[in-house]
Amino acid sequence: MSLEETAKPSNFIRHIIDADLAAGKNKGKVATRFPPEPNGYLHIGHAKSIVLNFGIAQDYSGTCNLRFDDTNPHKENIDFVNAIQKDVQWLGYKWSNLYYASDYFEQLYTFGVELIEKGKAYVCDLNADQIREYRGTLTEPGKNSPFRDRSIAENLDLFARMRAGEFRDGERVLRAKIDMASSNINLRDPTLYRIRHGVIHHQTGEAWCIYPMYDYAHPVSDAIEGITHSICTLEFEDHRPFYDWVLDNITIDCHPQQIEFSRLNLQYTVVSKRKLTELVDQGHVAGWDDPRMPTLAGLRRRGYTPEAIRVFCERIGVTKSDNSVEMGMLESAIRDDLNARAPRRMAVLHPLKVVITNYPEAKVEQLEAANHPQDESMGKRTMAFCRELYIERADFEEVPPKKFKRLIPGGEVRLRNSYVIRCDEIIKNNQGEIIELRCSYDTKTLNVNPEGRKVQGVIHWVSARHAMAAEVRLYDRLFTHATPDDGKDGVDYKQRLNPDSLRVLSNCFVESSLATAQPGERFQFEREGYFCRDINDSAGKPVFNMTVGLKDSWVKEQQK
Ligand code: ATP
Ligand code: MG
Repeated sequence: MSLEETAKPSNFIRHIIDADLAAGKNKGKVATRFPPEPNGYLHIGHAKSIVLNFGIAQDYSGTCNLRFDDTNPHKENIDFVNAIQKDVQWLGYKWSNLYYASDYFEQLYTFGVELIEKGKAYVCDLNADQIREYRGTLTEPGKNSPFRDRSIAENLDLFARMRAGEFRDGERVLRAKIDMASSNINLRDPTLYRIRHGVIHHQTGEAWCIYPMYDYAHPVSDAIEGITHSICTLEFEDHRPFYDWVLDNITIDCHPQQIEFSRLNLQYTVVSKRKLTELVDQGHVAGWDDPRMPTLAGLRRRGYTPEAIRVFCERIGVTKSDNSVEMGMLESAIRDDLNARAPRRMAVLHPLKVVITNYPEAKVEQLEAANHPQDESMGKRTMAFCRELYIERADFEEVPPKKFKRLIPGGEVRLRNSYVIRCDEIIKNNQGEIIELRCSYDTKTLNVNPEGRKVQGVIHWVSARHAMAAEVRLYDRLFTHATPDDGKDGVDYKQRLNPDSLRVLSNCFVESSLATAQPGERFQFEREGYFCRDINDSAGKPVFNMTVGLKDSWVKEQQK
């Protein structure tokens, strides 16, 4: 069975949709959208929203638009627009339509005029600080702006002149006229439009110098697109009254229902574009697709599959309660997927030379090895076997601890898919470090047990004459703290970066069949973990990124 369960997920949002359909609402239509702002790359938190919105459209034969919420041009750019499209497609989704909030700038302006004409909006000359001051606090009502009672004619004139570029940034804004004493601060005459000169918008160029606020553009964009269920994260719950206010006060015959769910927080990382931008810009990571990043681009480069990310998003579910998901949840999703699908290979990360003294100098055997122990359909490959091999340094102990089941002086061990060898002699350098083992092999043990004695350990190996040199990059948590940006103790999240999150092993040897590994191709390196060939390693030695270990050893480490 594939990793993805066949049963459709069930959650409170789907229950709402079921009830709406049963009641005949929206003419039986289900239309959702995923509305990223193109000011950074998508992260695993966005994946939760994508899987939710696109998944609903799929399961209810509805539609899901990809809409760029591009109302903040000074933080956005076309590279982010392109990266976001690539990531959504990589996750396995096709949007019904691709839109930009900026497609609606003219309509948004016209609705702004309508609100002014209805006495529901006014141009305000207070500056940002004054507006904040007049807004009041959670416990105190705000004060009316002295410009609140401008005539409709004056407001229309000023709004048109704002658009025409007659005023400087911050000199005037358009505000909704609602209630400065409302217990909901979002209803205390929120700003609808602000002036922004000198930015070239990636879609509209220099056509506009006024830009709508997100809270105004969003409901209007949803309604224009005929969205039925506008799904967003919990921090917008308090904004819902304004969402509804906008749609109740403009002439538009669609009123989507806003539904909030809790954001995904993932332990030992941060999921906020602002913070991820900081990590990139300040060089704490190598870029947006650094394999330590929780971005979809980083996870992809790390070797995550879209299937595993979708399954993870479904396993964590959709609720209204905030929580922080253990990294182990994400890791077990990819481990399950790769365990079933990744071909097995052998790679020696910390090589120790082994010479098989009774193996003829010039002889080479091509030994067969199954690509997957449980899946014959994945076929076989051959591995060269000769007199000189590498094994893992940790698979030999001169003075072994109890129960050590690997190679020891005078002891025997099976080389996986190959023979049983015995260690006869240890060669050391001047510093006393072990640099080579002299071993002998039992010719009768190729994939059969020796007679009359038991060999317990099985270790992996590669032919020293045939293996390919490679670099292997091991990754650990990006942060040393489970909730790095909790702000507790006044500690900045960047002070909690893990200095050992990347370990580069530049002296590894991998079996020769990996020479044809494609960029991004995934493997299990037997007894080590899951790895994928890096997408950017075309120059020099091939690079393999560790996706995840074979077992969740990390949690146990921490509990010691
Ligand atoms: P960030 O703080 O990272 O910029 P955002 O919410 O401002 O996040 P948007 O680009 O506006 O980012 O988000 C697009 C959609 O993805 C929104 O509907 C948002 O609610 C959702 N989303 C963003 N982060 C998460 C998260 N951590 N968990 C679930 N959904 C999220
Ligand atoms: Mg945002």
